[in-house]
Amino acid sequence: MKKFHLLLRFLFGENSILYLRIQTVVDHIQRFEAEYDDRFQSNHEFFAEILSIIDRRVQSFLENCSNTSDVSRVDFTVLGFDTILRSITDGTFVATLPAPLRQAMPRTVTPPLIGGPISPDPKHKTPLKEKQKRQGDTDPLNPSNKKQRGDAQINENIFPPWGLQTGEDYVACFIKDLDRTNMPKTDVCLNFHVRGSCHSLCPRASSHVHHNTFDATRKAAVSTYVSKVREQKLARG
Ligand SMILES: [Zn+2]
Repeated sequence: MKKFHLLLRFLFGENSILYLRIQTVVDHIQRFEAEYDDRFQSNHEFFAEILSIIDRRVQSFLENCSNTSDVSRVDFTVLGFDTILRSITDGTFVATLPAPLRQAMPRTVTPPLIGGPISPDPKHKTPLKEKQKRQGDTDPLNPSNKKQRGDAQINENIFPPWGLQTGEDYVACFIKDLDRTNMPKTDVCLNFHVRGSCHSLCPRASSHVHHNTFDATRKAAVSTYVSKVREQKLARG
């Protein structure tokens, strides 16, 4: 997305409407990186779907521009991405990939690394050097917008009763609309132990260990917490 954005600057200039509108998308992805990661966790076609929508909108805009000689007849509304971006953070984003694209998608994909490259191609791995460099530098377009995240930490041994159940969405169940008032406190990272991935800068990184490392009391506390969350989700519908 960033490369596409830079290409637009190169082709049309910094003040072009196309460049500025795509800027809002890039900003949004950076600001809500965690949400984007979550959407991709539950739908591996998520990034392909977003890119496909943006591509179709941009193509339609360019086609519209080349077919008219009067600027007042150009439809700029196709470049309004606000509703789409809001639906992504709301969790209501739904899109269908064009059939040829969907057929081209890989059948099985590995979970993305938190803080890793945002890419619909799961086989693409950023070389370590480049990754380190990227974590260190700031985005020239958005110097204050860079969210620091540590290295990905994947839980290969999720305790089955805690792990996400078939069809269960981590954000919908464990984060969004969860009423924490009467919930027991837990110092265990649920990102790691329920969703199965977190990062080294997590405030609860010390709990990113095998579940058997916890004593019985701590383990029971997590089980209680997890089942209370699921009870709440059931009640919410
Ligand atoms: Zn964590």
